[in-house]
Amino acid sequence: MSTSLFAVYGASGCGRSLMPLARAQLQSQGIAASQLVFIDDNPSASVVNGHKVLRYAEFLQTEAPLRHAVLAIANSEIRERLAKRCLEDGVAPWTVADANIVIMDDVDIGGGAALSPFVTLTSNIRIGKHFHANLYSYVEHDCVIGDFVTFAPGVKCNGNVVIEDHAYIGTGAVIKQGKPGLPLVIGRGAVVGMGAVVTRDVPAGTTVVGNPAKPFQKV
Ligand code: UDP
Repeated sequence: MSTSLFAVYGASGCGRSLMPLARAQLQSQGIAASQLVFIDDNPSASVVNGHKVLRYAEFLQTEAPLRHAVLAIANSEIRERLAKRCLEDGVAPWTVADANIVIMDDVDIGGGAALSPFVTLTSNIRIGKHFHANLYSYVEHDCVIGDFVTFAPGVKCNGNVVIEDHAYIGTGAVIKQGKPGLPLVIGRGAVVGMGAVVTRDVPAGTTVVGNPAKPFQKV
């Protein structure tokens, strides 16, 4: 039996939703649930849903030949900061995916992904590091997705779309299909509000809402 240690980093909403998938994934590989812990730098309890909660320093001190962690925190800036810290300390990025996800042909996905139940990735797709695809999200053919991108539940990302690093796509957003050689582009750090229907490019750092999605202006 492996004595590697596995962690879900973040014991709040995102982490608690990912933990059962992580446990099932390890169980299917014959790895005991006792090898799986939460890491949280501000723990609210010592045990959450049956798993120990360790501070990061405690996780590093726990005897184990290899350590793996999935960063289960929706905020992509925090994910990037923690990813650097883990890399420096030899904690390997760990991808956790529900058993029922669908991945079709030629999908290249970076380390540390979190793929929730009913996620579908169709064909000829490139995805960067530490991608979060929450419940029922899909990515259609020929999309290119950067690092630290976050999909809330039910995102419909149609074909030939480029999503740059750190973009956040809200619950139920629909992104219109681009064209081969002329993709629809959602820029770095852009935020797409929940339920938005994105019909044209979104500039970097811009928040868009509504149908058709337009830049958000506070009234
Ligand atoms: N957290 C952490 N280290 C950090 C930043 C956050 O352990 O550097 C933890 C934080 O204590 C909290 C969780 O990550 O328990 C983030 O929870 P939050 O409810 O903010 O977000 P979500 O679970 O929705 O991503």
